Amino acid sequence: MIDSNEFRKQAHHFVDWMADYLEQVDKLPVKSRVNPGEIFQNLPDVPPDQPESMNTVFEDFQKMIIPGMTHWQSPNFFAYFPANSSYPSVLAEMLTATLGAQCMIWDTSPVAAELEEKVMNWLKIMLGLPDTMVGVIQDTASTATLTALLSARERASGYTINSDGFINQKYRVYCSTETHSSIEKGVKIAGLGKNNLVKVNVDDNFRLDPHHLQNAIQEDIKNGMYPLCIIASLGTTGSTAIDPLKEITGIAARHDIWLHVDAAFAGTALILDEYRWMIDGIEQVDSFVFNPHKWMFTNFDLSAYFVKDKDALIRTFSINPEYLKTATAGKVNDYRDWGIPLGRRFRALKLWFVIRNFGVKGLQEKIRNHIEMARELEKQIKENQHFEIITPRTLNLVCFRYKPKRITDENELNQINERLLQTLNNTGKVFMSHTKLNGKYTLRMVIGQTQVSVQHVNKAWKLIQETAIQLFQ
Ligand SMILES: *Cc1c(COP(=O)(O)O)cnc(C)c1O
Repeated sequence: MIDSNEFRKQAHHFVDWMADYLEQVDKLPVKSRVNPGEIFQNLPDVPPDQPESMNTVFEDFQKMIIPGMTHWQSPNFFAYFPANSSYPSVLAEMLTATLGAQCMIWDTSPVAAELEEKVMNWLKIMLGLPDTMVGVIQDTASTATLTALLSARERASGYTINSDGFINQKYRVYCSTETHSSIEKGVKIAGLGKNNLVKVNVDDNFRLDPHHLQNAIQEDIKNGMYPLCIIASLGTTGSTAIDPLKEITGIAARHDIWLHVDAAFAGTALILDEYRWMIDGIEQVDSFVFNPHKWMFTNFDLSAYFVKDKDALIRTFSINPEYLKTATAGKVNDYRDWGIPLGRRFRALKLWFVIRNFGVKGLQEKIRNHIEMARELEKQIKENQHFEIITPRTLNLVCFRYKPKRITDENELNQINERLLQTLNNTGKVFMSHTKLNGKYTLRMVIGQTQVSVQHVNKAWKLIQETAIQLFQ
C-alpha cells in the first residue's frame, strides 16, 4: 500500500485528472458503448497476490473503467432525472472520505448529527416547509418512502406490528397510476402486500384524480379494510405531473390517513417562490421527501426526509442494545433511530458545502435557468410541425415525440420513436430516455445537468431533428 508521501503525490495528480475530466466530459460519448460482459471478460478472474503500484491501477482506471462509464456529469446528459453534482460537493466528498467516520449516533461524531440537524433546518427554510417538521438525511427516496410506510403502519397499529407481527388487518395504500415504482417496492417490503396498493386514476395531465381517490377509500372502508397511507407525487417520473396536494390533504384528514409526499425530483424547484403552489396544504402532510442528489448539485446519495411526528418515526425504528447505550441519549439526535440502517455516512457535509458555496441565490438562479431552457425547448418543439409535445411541461422535463403528418398509426409511431431514440443515443452526442404516456412512446429530455447551457440544448435539438430526417424522410 502507498504511504503518506505517495498519497499526497497521487492525490494532487488525481485532482488534476478530476478537473480535466469535468472540463472535457462533454467530448466523451455520453452513454457507454461497451457490450454486455465485455468489461467483466477483460478483468482478471483472481485478485492480485502482490501489491500493484498506484500508477498501474490508475492506468487501468483510465483504460478499463472510464469506457464503461455513462457520463452523468456530461452536459449532454438529458436522460432519466439527473444525479447532478458540483465542485463544492465533490470537494466535500473528498473530505468525507478522508475523515472516514461512521456517524450512527451523536457520540460517534457529534458534528455530523448537529450539522445534519442544521442543514435540514436550512432546507426547510429554503423550500418553505413548515417549521413544525423535522428533517433527517436518508440515502435515497426509496428508503425514505419505506420509512414513511413503516411509520404509518406502526402508528396505525399502536406499534403492535413491530412487536407481534401482523394480525389480519387489511391495510391499504393509495397512489396514482403514474407513481414511482419505489412505492410498490416499499409496500412489498413493509409486509403490506402489493395487492393492497391501490393505483388511482389520473387526469389528462397525469395528476392523481382526487375523486377516484375518495371513491377508492370509501369502497375499501365499506369492505372492512383500513386506509393506511396516501402517497402524493410532486413531479412524477414519467412527466413531472404534480398531484393536487391541497385536495388530497382534505381526503387524508377526513379519514385520518398518513399522507406522504414524494417530491424526489421536483422538490428542488420549491426554492423558487413561483413554484410554492406545489405544496399548498403542506401543513397537513405527515412526511415529505426530496432528493438534493437529483437536481440540487449534491452528489448521490443524499435524500432529505421530513416528518411532522418525530415520535412516530423514532418509536418505529429505535433500538437500544447495551453496546450502543450512551450518556447523551435523549439530549441529542441519535440518527440511527430515524431510519433503517445503523451505520451512516457523514452526508450533511456535502450539502453544507453546496448550500454555502452556491448560496440560496446561486441555487435559485441555476434552477430557474434550467426551467427557462426547458421552456424555450418546448416552444421550439411546438413550432416544428413534425414533432409533438405529449403533455404540457411543468418544470424542466420536456416530453415529446416525432410525429410526421403522414404517419397516424400509433404502433408505427411508437416504433419509429424507439428507433429515433436508439439512434440518437448511439451517436454518443446525447443521452435521453423514454416513457410511455397513454401508450405513446415518449422521448424525455430533462434539462437539469449542472453544466448544461443553451448551446448544449440547441445542439441536441438540432441533432434530434436531423436524425429524424435522415431516418424517416
Ligand atoms: C427518482 C425518484 C424516486 C427514487 O429515488 P431514489 O432516491 O433513487 O430512491 C422516487 N420517486 C420519484 C418521483 C423519483 O423521481
